[in-house]
Amino acid sequence: MQTEDYIRLENSYNAPNYQPLDVVLERGEGVWVWDVEGRRYLDCLSAYSALNQGHRHPRIIEALVQQAERLTLTSRAFRNDQLPLLARELCELTGYEMMLPMNSGAEAVETALKAARRWGQWVKGIDGDAEIIVCRNNFHGRTITVISFSTEPDYRDGFGPFTPGFISVPFGDAEALEAAIGPRTVAFMVEPVQGEAGVIVPPPGYLRATREICDRHDILLVADEIQSGLGRVGKLLACDWEAVKPDLVTIGKALSGGVLPVSAVLGSREVLGLFKPGSHGSTFGGNPLACAVARAALKVTVEEDLPRRARELGDYFQGQIGAIDSPLIQEVRGKGLLIGVALKPEVAPARLIVEALKERGVLAKETHGTVIRFAPPLVISKAEIDFAVAQLAAALATAQEVVTAEASNLIG
Ligand SMILES: *Cc1c(COP(=O)(O)O)cnc(C)c1O
Repeated sequence: MQTEDYIRLENSYNAPNYQPLDVVLERGEGVWVWDVEGRRYLDCLSAYSALNQGHRHPRIIEALVQQAERLTLTSRAFRNDQLPLLARELCELTGYEMMLPMNSGAEAVETALKAARRWGQWVKGIDGDAEIIVCRNNFHGRTITVISFSTEPDYRDGFGPFTPGFISVPFGDAEALEAAIGPRTVAFMVEPVQGEAGVIVPPPGYLRATREICDRHDILLVADEIQSGLGRVGKLLACDWEAVKPDLVTIGKALSGGVLPVSAVLGSREVLGLFKPGSHGSTFGGNPLACAVARAALKVTVEEDLPRRARELGDYFQGQIGAIDSPLIQEVRGKGLLIGVALKPEVAPARLIVEALKERGVLAKETHGTVIRFAPPLVISKAEIDFAVAQLAAALATAQEVVTAEASNLIG
């Protein structure tokens, strides 16, 4: 079968809830992937940061295979010999007292919301229904509760009725957070860097200010580090940039090095200890295969010093993109190896550039029509970054010629 055959099959039998680039991948190794025609591409998306350690990292695959040959699933009705080890390693690494394992990121977010509500009612003793403050343009997943507090119409249309109990404030504005806090507020949930919104880095001191406000009003600070965490933005957790310790942290994506869905909530005994037996669970959450893989993925993150690589190579990558002389670029922004290239919307739709990049062997993805996100595996080399930058410069130059030609046609 060829590319077109796979596309036709997928379009016929698979619900059209995505608009993927027309490239059909069949193999990956490190930062590279190959399509069914044998063409090679540099992966500059990393499955939205789930592949921080690169495709099929040998140590993670070894852990997967070894564990698969022993035991894959017990359910939490019984104990297994991997969950306790992952729990200890994750807590020791991040400085939290407890973790609760789930599978997808959205489930970790739901778990954190449940924990915050229960803490509000049982510990803080609020009167009536708990209220949780979130940020505009947030992305926390796709469940009905999570989209209930999304501000993106595409995520919500036709899916109501929605879960009540959420209010949103502008991202990056600590004063707006403080003004929104009421007697029934139990938590503030925030992405330390907004990924899906188009790689938005808040002003310096924002996280620190939100920590202080949450302390002053006795509400929980919940950081969703599913995309920003585990090295992506140059620290193990993005909150480390401001030495801020949230009450709850959600992690996922790179927690398995792109091998299995593995997520977790980190927190204190005071909060996560409120989940009594029967109050929450997941058939696959904490399964031994996922835990063995996550242990290896964490080990790789630490031993290969991926946060430092993201910090240094991210600076280099951002600098090199910034040096491209193209009138199509409006802004280059980001932190670590989470980089957004905002194009001038009136001249070049990001999708055009992304398609051109694909033809040149670089896979990246646009968000919101005008921003191209570059988030390669953190194991990328300088030479590979140079390749990506050269292709971006060439794709922009070609698009510029088209734009100029169209403009002179209009005039002529
Ligand atoms: C991807 C993501 C999620 C959702 O994770 P899934 O595994 O797709 O459910 C939640 N929060 C953030 C910040 C994310 O980037």
